[in-house]
Amino acid sequence: MRLDLTGGRSYEDRDSGIFLAHRGTYAIFQRGYEKCDSGMFLPVAARAQFSNRAAAMNDVILDLTAIEKHYQNGDTIVRALDGVSLKIHSGEFVAIMGQSGSGKSTLMNIIGCLDRPTSGSYRVLGKEAANLSPDELAALRRETFGFVFQRYNLLATATAGENVEIPSVYAGLPKQKRSIRARGLLQRLGLGDRTDHRPAELSGGQQQRVAIARALVNDPPVILADEPTGALDSRSGDEVLSLLKELHVEGRTIILITHAENVAQHASRIVRIQDGGILDDSGVVTRENRPLVDIADLSLKSAVTLAASMQEALVTAWRSLRVNIFRTVLTLLGIIIGVAAVVAMLAVGEGSRQKVLDRISSFGTNLMLIRPGAAGIRNAGDIVTLIPEDAAAIKALPNIETALPERSGRMTVRFGNRDYQTSVQGTGADFPQARDWKVAEGQFFNADDMKQYAPVVVLGRTVAKTLFPDGGEAVGNYVLLKNVPFLVIGVMTEKGASPNGSDQDDVIFTPINTGLVRLFGKSYLSSITIKVSDAADIAATQERVENLLRERHRTEDFSVRNMASYLQAAIETQDTFTLLLGTVAAISLLVGGIGVMNIMLVSVVERTREIGIRMATGARMRDILLQFNIEAAVVCAAGGLLGILVGVAAGMILRYSGMSVIFSLTPALLAFACASATGLIFGYLPARKAARLDPVVALASE
Ligand code: ADP
Ligand code: MG
Repeated sequence: MRLDLTGGRSYEDRDSGIFLAHRGTYAIFQRGYEKCDSGMFLPVAARAQFSNRAAAMNDVILDLTAIEKHYQNGDTIVRALDGVSLKIHSGEFVAIMGQSGSGKSTLMNIIGCLDRPTSGSYRVLGKEAANLSPDELAALRRETFGFVFQRYNLLATATAGENVEIPSVYAGLPKQKRSIRARGLLQRLGLGDRTDHRPAELSGGQQQRVAIARALVNDPPVILADEPTGALDSRSGDEVLSLLKELHVEGRTIILITHAENVAQHASRIVRIQDGGILDDSGVVTRENRPLVDIADLSLKSAVTLAASMQEALVTAWRSLRVNIFRTVLTLLGIIIGVAAVVAMLAVGEGSRQKVLDRISSFGTNLMLIRPGAAGIRNAGDIVTLIPEDAAAIKALPNIETALPERSGRMTVRFGNRDYQTSVQGTGADFPQARDWKVAEGQFFNADDMKQYAPVVVLGRTVAKTLFPDGGEAVGNYVLLKNVPFLVIGVMTEKGASPNGSDQDDVIFTPINTGLVRLFGKSYLSSITIKVSDAADIAATQERVENLLRERHRTEDFSVRNMASYLQAAIETQDTFTLLLGTVAAISLLVGGIGVMNIMLVSVVERTREIGIRMATGARMRDILLQFNIEAAVVCAAGGLLGILVGVAAGMILRYSGMSVIFSLTPALLAFACASATGLIFGYLPARKAARLDPVVALASE
């Protein structure tokens, strides 16, 4: 039914359910409504529920008084709004109409709490908006207002369904309910088969319907639509308008912004604005409305949604990383290299440490070594101090199993026409027992050989193989050392490589006395190796040895070290090595972290609009902060995981190339934790930048 009321009369008919008022406006009511005290119609059933608060306010839910909004534009001040006073009642369908540039969007941004006025008072549900906290404002945007924009403002990377769900995510609705609700709304708006399509796959009209579904998902009492038909063809535009009317009939308050007269005619009240001021207001026409939720109740709800917004942040993070996969990988590279370096280098470090320790301890923890020269003197080998008698004296001390006087030198050994350069080592008869090194053929020299300066030698396996390559019997032959014939009396078993990697079998042993006189031309020793009977008592034994030598030499011109102290030194060296590797790795993680920060800053700039949309749909600062922080953390955690894999792979390759590599869990976990922490630390700055964006500024960005 259509009535022309251009004369400004009003018409009401209780039986037909029609109430008409003011110029050019009409509303069609169903039966079963009654007029309430404030002069508006309410459904009979809803009347009892209608909140006392709204009634007390005379149904004014949005109350603007002398609102000014000024923009500084170079030297001039643009008065986008210049003293706007407007009361909007619950249940109204208001069109705010004016030419482009008249201040409509500015007004709507202030009404929707996306922006703050320069001056004037704006009261929402009786509360001054200027006094509300950012979170309370976010709660209003989330649950009191539903926004519909001219340019839809959907998130391009999310599906229609996901776009619709966004405000309910921030409202803390559980996942299941969210998607049921989103589906239901899309179904109702004729987009049931488009739930999984992305905005790019939808027409303008369909996108706007998705945007309307999004505005409705939290069931807000007020819908704010800024030129919702501006970008649509007339048919889609009509669809959107009839949707808005349907929502009005349901009891929602609708504020429609438009520059077009024919669009404005759909509303029951038209407010015309020009140059930031109200030119004309057709007056209030209200109808039944829905109870409003108190602002205080809204912000209370925020406490329960941390888990939900975490989950949402993870999903968005993953999505945005996937969209920019190439860039993500490049960003990750720094983190991957850092973590891989930590894992591989520490594995190599641990491997070499273990190897050194194994070799040292295989050498025997019950051994002591006496070297000429006080501790710390280098190249002390030629200092004239230790003599074979020292060794004999030491041997007489308690807890000493053997004391081997030693001197060695490199020289050429000859058998027949074969020459071979090797190390000749003068030692004591106890050598096999002290070093746990058995004779394979023949025998070692004995105490008698020592006393008699016997010209005898025992060959290491390598020397025996070289001089007697045909497997001929070595024992019983004479070899020449410095042109002196020495009888071969034995061949040692194979010993393998030494702690520093040299071939221990490349050696010839001869009695120390014989060696000193006939081969080395010197009468003093280069070292004395001592084997103690009880390793537990090694410290006391070492002290006794030191005392004895001090007495004999009347000065401290020697140094005694036991294997435990070598072990200690080796561990210290390895720890320094590990620290060095750790530092290198930490630096590369730092560089990686700076890369992450850089990319996150770029991402914030690129996605300013997305941030604006999220804020307009009710995201709190905390939600935005969380989202970007989680994104950075996800990048770094993914980098950390990949880094561990790469590090392990690199370690495996090194292992195959012959290095000793030991993986341990701690450095891997540590590197992973470091990478994630790097993400959090370096992601914080960009995240804070994003969270502090002004919703209107963010929305206005391209
Ligand atoms: P409408 O939506 O009615 O077309 P707007 O509310 O967008 O108009 O703008 C009203 C006036 O305020 C215009 O003159 C516009 O140039 C100015 N304006 C709007 N936003 C800004 C801004 N961020 N900075 C400077 N001037 C602005
Ligand atoms: Mg506008």
